[in-house]
Amino acid sequence: MTTIDISNSANILRASASIVLPVLPFAENALEPAISAKTVSFHYGKHHKGYVDNMNKLITGTDYSDLSLEEIIISTCERPERKAIFNNASQTWNHTFFWKSLKENGGGSAPAELKSLIDSSFGSEAECKKALAEAALTLFGSGWAWLVIDGGKLKVITTINAESPLNTKNKPLLTIDVWEHAYYLDYQNRRADYVNALLDNLINWDFVMQNLS
Ligand code: MN
Repeated sequence: MTTIDISNSANILRASASIVLPVLPFAENALEPAISAKTVSFHYGKHHKGYVDNMNKLITGTDYSDLSLEEIIISTCERPERKAIFNNASQTWNHTFFWKSLKENGGGSAPAELKSLIDSSFGSEAECKKALAEAALTLFGSGWAWLVIDGGKLKVITTINAESPLNTKNKPLLTIDVWEHAYYLDYQNRRADYVNALLDNLINWDFVMQNLS
């Protein structure tokens, strides 16, 4: 007679669970002409997928394999000996957040519900976008520009390489990937053109609202 050991099968389920690459929230060509289908294809299908695959390899058989992606990031961010896991986990999270920060026919004016918060934080929507653009343009090397909320006030921050705002008091609302792989096929060295095209045409204000609620 065969008996089923429930605790054991639960372990098997947990051990086999891995972090999966989320489905891209739009077609690969949806962001054209601001970001080409070719860039999205490489960025999502090679870079983002690569981070997910690497992280899963690195956490297999470790204590981290039972944790959520956010828990992995928080528990490795200050452990230099876990830098490889942190980098791949955080890049996985950052990219998922980045895709949600963009949408076809995005950009334009922020929703009316956001106006008072934007005005009280930056003075005006134009100043908010300017702060995001300046942060993205002045970030030296690879990293991320973020719109965040801290203590009821919006602000713009940057993180370098794979660094994350998740272990800080800044709640992320929107991000711009300023690694060269995000724009080089379309814009070569012209990061400003990429950032401005993204701000003007792709920002997903609905996602900002969702993250505020
Ligand atoms: Mn990227």
